[in-house]
Amino acid sequence: MIYCPESYIALLEHIRSQGYRFAAGYHDWDSASDEPQVILRHDIDVSLGLAVRMAMLDRELGIPSIFFAMLRSPHYNIYATQTRAALEMIVGSGEHRLGLHYTPPDKLPADLAEVESWVQADWEELYKALLPIPVTPEVSWHRPTLSLLRHYCERKFLGRAFLWNAYSQPYFLDAKFLSDSNCRYTDDELRKFFDPTANPRVQLLIHPLIWMAGGDNMLQVWANVWPHLIREQEVELRESRIYGAAFPCGIPDSIRDSFAQQVKREATKRWEAYSGRRSLD
Ligand SMILES: [Zn+2]
Repeated sequence: MIYCPESYIALLEHIRSQGYRFAAGYHDWDSASDEPQVILRHDIDVSLGLAVRMAMLDRELGIPSIFFAMLRSPHYNIYATQTRAALEMIVGSGEHRLGLHYTPPDKLPADLAEVESWVQADWEELYKALLPIPVTPEVSWHRPTLSLLRHYCERKFLGRAFLWNAYSQPYFLDAKFLSDSNCRYTDDELRKFFDPTANPRVQLLIHPLIWMAGGDNMLQVWANVWPHLIREQEVELRESRIYGAAFPCGIPDSIRDSFAQQVKREATKRWEAYSGRRSLD
């Protein structure tokens, strides 16, 4: 399997062996220094459980990283007890920072400057909702449009709270920006970028779901995410007296695993068709 916890650990160990320092956050990034630096960033797009696992791996390796959580996720509710518990585990005793992963609305205003006040409002809401869990003044866009990226690229800080913009010039254009989105790079390909002479400063975006659910391509990863999502969604179902009595440990592993196997088989077939179509482009 290309994407898995083991290959993620090997990637981080390689980065460290190349002499890179892992910055504690955007505030800890020194553009004037010759020291090779990397910011390790994790956007929590879908699964909190998989993000917790990644935080534990980073912590075991003694590597600081920044997690970005959504206020308006369709997958997790920031006000729910289990979300708070997961985010508390991620932050730990301050080994990892937690910022806002902001989803721009489908319909953007004509004046993009307006978006900044929405980001500020969402960050404040996240901050208040999670107190006393520390939410740090850092923001990353979720699926930004090109025009939004361009508009805010020169703004290192957003809003009244001086929110560090993860997609601003020092971290996005002046540095090497590497993202594993849609499994665009294998771990081997990512490793090759970590040459301190060619790329002294790197922002590395790693999505927990890709490496913690695992797979060889993005469709396989999505298929492998399902068993985790089932268990995360079951938390609330198990609170029900009737469901909880019938399935005290959730639906049996055998049922979950057979569903997951079927999805995986189908994903493999469809991936062949999809990659075949792509090669004809
Ligand atoms: Zn995202």
